[in-house]
Amino acid sequence: MKNYSKEVDSLNKPAILGGTKAKTKPFVQWPQWDESEEEALINALRSGKWSRRNSTNLNEKGASSYIELLEEDIKKRFDVEYALAVASGTAALDVAVRAAGIQPGDEVIVPAYSYIASATCVLHAGAKPVFVDILEDTWNLNVNLITESITSKTKAIIVVHIAGQPSNMTELMKIAKAKGLIVIEDAAQAIGAMWGNSYVGTIGDIGCFSLESTKNVTAGEGGIVTTNNVELYKKLYSLHMAGRPFGGEWYQHESLGWNYRLSEFQAAIAYVQLQRMESLNKIREENAIFLREQLKDFVGIKITGIEESVTRQAYHLFTFRFLPEEWGSFTRKRFILAMNAEGIPCYEGYKNPIYGTELFANQGYLSYKQLCPIAEKICSSSVWIPQNVLLGDKTDQKEVVYAFEKICKSFR
Ligand SMILES: *Cc1c(COP(=O)(O)O)cnc(C)c1O
Repeated sequence: MKNYSKEVDSLNKPAILGGTKAKTKPFVQWPQWDESEEEALINALRSGKWSRRNSTNLNEKGASSYIELLEEDIKKRFDVEYALAVASGTAALDVAVRAAGIQPGDEVIVPAYSYIASATCVLHAGAKPVFVDILEDTWNLNVNLITESITSKTKAIIVVHIAGQPSNMTELMKIAKAKGLIVIEDAAQAIGAMWGNSYVGTIGDIGCFSLESTKNVTAGEGGIVTTNNVELYKKLYSLHMAGRPFGGEWYQHESLGWNYRLSEFQAAIAYVQLQRMESLNKIREENAIFLREQLKDFVGIKITGIEESVTRQAYHLFTFRFLPEEWGSFTRKRFILAMNAEGIPCYEGYKNPIYGTELFANQGYLSYKQLCPIAEKICSSSVWIPQNVLLGDKTDQKEVVYAFEKICKSFR
């Protein structure tokens, strides 16, 4: 193991055994805001326009609300034709699956390791998620396993850029094209990440983002859907607008839709937060690179790898595996408690692959356990450090490394 700092020579006792904490000052809080958010909120309030009415015209120039400002900004920033603000990331996935025409009897490929909404959107449409295992190195969908999971009923693939790390979109798009499948990107954790020259969420047919309070761009709650296809955009719009046709009347309802609109107050905050995205993602990435370098030779943990063509990571989480075989009787649970005692926030993450949650297990999905050994392995050994840790300064990162060092040296 590498020696990180002087202190290591006289390594302090782990905090969990009564030693001094590795962390000397609190981490940066999340969410972050200043007067710009306050000003935007007041502007939204005083405008008297608190929600979107059915006024959008594709040819209309100039934004007249924060919702439209937000959508225009997303379009420009990510170089995508259409963007639609919605109530949540879950709502984004819901309208995406419906707009893609997924119906009862259809099958949709979903990675086994993700947040439950990546799969409940399929159930909600009456269709069947088909879970595919992930890669041990990156925790993203193993695209090599997709083809064997495709049947005559398969209509779409939902790909998740887990923890902010883009999935292999080049290979995935090849398969989707060859098989005539729609691709929905769940980029809830990866806003601002890039695969090659493209932002995630703009490579497949539809992209979904979350603005929930832990996410890297947040309005407390909220979501965004992106697409380059005008027909899909009109469907997405209608679905989030109680089934009103795009450009139709307020009491004209054409299809089964919901009220999945974002409010002006949320849009005001999201718009200002979006202006911070690049600079904050850059800090996260720089600090993550530092941590990777410092921790790479530590025995007992394995930092999550990065796919080849990733040009920008969004680091919603800094993830690694606790390798139980290296720790004797010392468990992941104790490791996390020891880290927490040092003042480093971290936790296990998803307890089960999606099929192992009660909702899916009770519907017979547990049979996927045999097909997804890697997702099982990751769930039983994963550790997540939240993104606000990566927003700190160098001292913060050095203290994180020091905490690892104390624990690895004392308990392994
Ligand atoms: C957060 C998240 C969602 C859902 O977003 P909400 O805004 O919480 O509804 C979907 N998929 C993934 C991978 C997420 O992390």
